[in-house]
Parts: sequence; C-alpha cells; structure tokens
Amino acid sequence: MATITIANNTFEAGASILHPKNYHALKFTEFLQLKKKVSEDDDSESLGIWDGEKFVFTTWSSNWGFSIVNKVVSWLNSCKLLWRYGFSLFKMQNYVESMLDNFLKFYEGFDTRPVFNGVEEMLKWSGLYNLTSRTLEEELIDANLSPLLINELVTVITRINYGQSTRMSGLAGAVSLAGSGGGLWAVEGGNWQMAAGLINSSDVKLHLNEEIQSVSHVGTHYELNSTKGNSYVCQVTVFATPLDELKVKIEPPISIPDRKMQHTHTTFIRGLLNPAYIGLGRVGDIPDLVGTLEDSKIPFSCISVLKKHSREDMTYKMFSRKPVDDALLDQIFSIRKETIQIDWAAYPHYEAPEAFAPFILDDLHLYYVNAFESAASAMETGAVSGENIARLILSRISTEALSRLPTMKGTTFSSSRDDLYSDL
Ligand SMILES: Cc1cc2nc3c(=O)[nH]c(=O)nc-3n(C[C@H](O)[C@H](O)[C@H](O)COP(=O)(O)OP(=O)(O)OC[C@H]3O[C@@H](n4cnc5c(N)ncnc54)[C@H](O)[C@@H]3O)c2cc1C
Repeated sequence: MATITIANNTFEAGASILHPKNYHALKFTEFLQLKKKVSEDDDSESLGIWDGEKFVFTTWSSNWGFSIVNKVVSWLNSCKLLWRYGFSLFKMQNYVESMLDNFLKFYEGFDTRPVFNGVEEMLKWSGLYNLTSRTLEEELIDANLSPLLINELVTVITRINYGQSTRMSGLAGAVSLAGSGGGLWAVEGGNWQMAAGLINSSDVKLHLNEEIQSVSHVGTHYELNSTKGNSYVCQVTVFATPLDELKVKIEPPISIPDRKMQHTHTTFIRGLLNPAYIGLGRVGDIPDLVGTLEDSKIPFSCISVLKKHSREDMTYKMFSRKPVDDALLDQIFSIRKETIQIDWAAYPHYEAPEAFAPFILDDLHLYYVNAFESAASAMETGAVSGENIARLILSRISTEALSRLPTMKGTTFSSSRDDLYSDL
C-alpha cells in the first residue's frame, strides 16, 4: 500500500481497489472517518482484449457526459459481452458469489466463530478449503464455463489481479474474479490511510526505516535485532510480511513450506500509447484498459489509463511479469515524458494444491499473519488473518495465565479472558 507521484499527480501504486463486501476495510474507513471513493463509472471505461496482434474483444467507453447515453452504451456493452460469452457469464457470477457467501463466515461474531490455529482449519470451517486444492481452470470447467470465457475474459482478470494464468489455485482465482465486479471502491487520498490511521489510533510505537534482521527466542522472550543496531525484547512476535524472500535470521530455525512469490513489475508512464504497436490506426481507438491473453510473446499483462490530461497526454499503469526495458517501452509508447518502475514481490505464485505455513511458527509465541496469503492475497484477507492471529494470541496468553492461576494467589485473573477480548 503506497502512492506514487508522477508529473505532479499522485496515484495508488499497488493495492488500489476494495470489494463492497470487504467489511473490515469498510469498518476501518468508517472508524477513521475516511472518505470512500466509489468507482461510479465501473463500466464506463472501455476494455480491449489483445492477443498480441489484434483485439479479439472490445467494449465502448460509456463516458459521454450524458447519463442516458452512458446507460445505453453500458447496456450495449452488456449485450456485446453476452453475445460473445453467453450464459457462461452467469455461471461465473454464481461461482464468485458462492465463494463470497463462504467468505462472509469470517465476519460472524466471536460466539459462533472459533479461533483458528491454522489456515487449513480456517478454510475448512468456512467451506473454502477445496478451492485451494484445485486450479481455477478445473473449477470453472466443472462449473460449465465455456473455454472461450476462461481463455479470454477470466484470463485477462487473473493476469491483471494476480499476474497469473487460470492455472492458479481456485480460491485466489475466485477472489481475483470478485475484484472485477461492480461497486469497487477505494479510500479517497489513498488506501494506505487505513493502515496509517489504525496505527495512529492504537497504543503502539512504530519504528520506521528500521528493519528487523534477527529474531531469537531467549529464555522466556524474543530478542529482535534491527539494522539500526537496536535490540527489542518481546513476549510475542508477529511476522506481518511474507517470509519467502525475507532475510531475517530466526533462532531456533523454523520450517515452512516453500512458496514462490509472483513478482509484478509496475510501470507508470506519462506519455502516449503507440496505437501501431497494438495494431490500431488511431490513438482514439485504444481501449482505456488493454488486457492480454496467456501468450509468452506478449510482454505485459495489462495497460490502463490512470488519467487523461489531454488527447495526447495521459498517465498509464502497466503490469508485467518481467521488467520492461527502455527499448521496448519506446516501441509500446510513442511519447514518454516520465517513467517510474516498481518491482513488487507482490503475492504468492498460486499452485494447487496449496500448502500452508502455520500461524504459530514455533509452538510458543512466534506468529505469521501472511500464512493466509497462500489462500488469497488482498488487503481484506490480511485483515481477516490479522484478526484471527490477534484472537489466537489473546486466547493462548489467557489460557497460559489461567493455568498458572493456583500459584498466583492475589492476582485477579478470573475475568482476564473477557478483559483481553474486550481489548481486542
Ligand atoms: C501491484 C499490486 C496490486 C495489488 N492490488 C490490490 C488491490 O487492488 N486490492 C487488494 O486488496 N490487494 C491488492 N494487492 C495485494 C495487497 O497489496 C497485499 O495483500 C497487502 O498489501 C498485504 O499487506 P501486508 O501488510 O501483509 O504486507 P505489506 O503491505 O507488504 O506490508 C509488509 C510491511 O512489512 C515491512 N517489512 C518487511 N520486512 C521487514 C523487516 N525485516 N523489518 C521490519 N519491517 C519489515 C514492509 O516494509 C512493509 O511495510 C496488490 C498487490 C500488488 C503488489
């Protein structure tokens, strides 16, 4: 979660969209009195699906300034989609809705929702586990979606949202499809404000520009050593970042399943796309969002317009699996005034059946929020996992405290579990 500034305009660099059913994010936004920016023109932008030579499907932009015209164009676009992909579109919607219904169980109250020790247990309880043991493609074929829909529209969506093909695992694939539906929103001014606001309104001390280099369990506590030479003593330690590419020495060593991270190279360009590169004659014919099919010859996953400054001056965001060098950028863009590139170790490379790292890394108090990312990675899934870890810590600490109760006369632990829960 971060913003970038290009040619004096600030844009969300990564995590830019939230789903209308991302209830934690909605609560954080409300609690922090942040403003929601709902994407009213969800389908106002035109979409083109490019096969490396030509567009196999396009929609029209419905941003004409007249609401009645917009509605007609939007309706025509729906007809176009239905004509090409048929009733498979409804089957895709049902597949996503059934996943969302199960996901909603994670918002049940504490009285009916247990504290989970592991990701498998959490997914099995919600009915989502099976989706992680098969590929999205297998799931969608079983749901009777047509190969055309899977190979075109679904592929475009998984390439945009996770930089991966439909061979990714089914749950992350379904989350990706949910992220292409209607009612998507963001926090006005940047989603990072949720994290910043929550930190500011809690009783924590944030050490910025300081990396933890080692975590050692010493006697009854953890010792954390940082790049600034500082040492911190902690009763509980929580990793809230993927461990896969992290160079932190953990003592005694822990063991987690191997997981590859999918790198998404994000390139922001102020300039103009070259219509000839994508087989078009005029700039005006280029769709606002160019999605691509699964073909190793295509050097990017998608290119979208972030802002139209004028007919010949736009800001674009391009996602690719590999870095795109200047020579190639100069072919794709006829004008390039400013370029910013970011290499994100973005999300896991999803491979069914998924293997999950434990939430509790060492049987003591070393926890791992991002173990849940092997199911699906998003801001909301991070919050769902984080909440469970907070409950897990409270429940284990209170159980330990209660078990010591007979030897701790004079200390009132009778309601400690309740107190801890009300703190949460
Ligand atoms: C290009 C892109 C687009 C995305 N789009 C969306 C989207 O539209 N919607 C959505 O919901 N999700 C999206 N995501 C996914 C979303 O960004 C992640 O799921 C989310 O940011 C994960 O949050 P996190 O707190 O677990 O990890 P991070 O956001 O990665 O935060 C981890 C933090 O740990 C810190 N850290 C790392 N190592 C150390 C260390 N040794 N010591 C101290 N601190 C350390 C890092 O500096 C960082 O601040 C996108 C991701 C990418 C890359």
